[in-house]
Amino acid sequence: MESIGVLLVARVMPYLEQELDKRFKLFRAWEYPNRAQLLSQHAAAIRAVVASSSAGADAALIEALPKLEIVSSFSVGVDKIDKEKCREKGIPVTYTPDVLTDEVADLTIGLILALLRRICECDRFVRSGQWKRGNYKLTTKFSGKTVGIIGLGRIGEAIAKRAEGFKCPISYYSRTEKRESNYKYYPSVVELASNCDILVVACALTEETHHIINREVINALGPKGYLINIGRGKHVDETELVSALVEGRLGGAGLDVFENEPSVPEELFGLENVVLLPHVGSATVETRTAMADLVLGNLEAHFLGKPLLTPLI
Ligand code: NAP
Repeated sequence: MESIGVLLVARVMPYLEQELDKRFKLFRAWEYPNRAQLLSQHAAAIRAVVASSSAGADAALIEALPKLEIVSSFSVGVDKIDKEKCREKGIPVTYTPDVLTDEVADLTIGLILALLRRICECDRFVRSGQWKRGNYKLTTKFSGKTVGIIGLGRIGEAIAKRAEGFKCPISYYSRTEKRESNYKYYPSVVELASNCDILVVACALTEETHHIINREVINALGPKGYLINIGRGKHVDETELVSALVEGRLGGAGLDVFENEPSVPEELFGLENVVLLPHVGSATVETRTAMADLVLGNLEAHFLGKPLLTPLI
């Protein structure tokens, strides 16, 4: 398979890059000054694109690769891939479901605890020597708080199971009620936000869920409510979120993802009631290795004419 051209659109982890390099003829997009130059030299050689959560395959790229046979994403979120274009051209798309579910759900609970118990700020308090001048202020309890989840999918459900361990009543919003679930369903995000203490965004990013967290939802969550986003940055109207936090209309926010990563609104840096993470939901050695192995396994299956391991399309 060494002669098969594979385009890696973004740097993800050295292990994946090395293994792709061993098996295929690997083109690294970032080694070219721009896309036009990459395409003018290698478009005809590229038979697979490896995408990620930060860079995918848009319609222009798919159209520009005449020999493209498969798009394999190093992510479960596929919002950066033009799935309609892939369908239209009969190009299969694979992704990395399940292997990252526990990791992202674990981090969500960590983010909630860090936000409510101010763990990061407590750490800064000790390091800066402030403890010698008095105790840290009292914080907020997590156990028993009502957790509302937008998107009761693989990750949403894993978060719910963990939160149940903290004796939290669980409610959710998604397009359809899950009859098999015992959690309380709300048919609107505003209703969910009005009836929970902690609102967690765990749905897929689509046109419908873009800015699903808007001013109305933030106001419904209110000054005692907390927003947690581990989905995608574009789920949240960030301008509205920042003004609500600055004006005290929202209790706090724990964010793993942002609208324009890696840029984060600077107004957030000075706020005590936010915890900011650099999109690390699945970022452990174990999970990222499992994701990389799925990308490699899917590509190998495709080029050997075997069934794909985790096809989306
Ligand atoms: P999943 O099992 O496909 O779940 C996606 C959920 O989104 C489903 O419950 C679906 O529910 C819901 N959904 C889709 N469209 C919706 C809409 N218009 N309104 C409300 N809910 C909607 O996917 P997953 O494996 O749990 O992953 C979920 C997302 O997490 C990914 O798409 C990705 O963006 C994000 N993620 C982030 C990280 C990170 O590092 N922070 C890591 C992994 C994944 P219904 O079909 O019932 O509406």
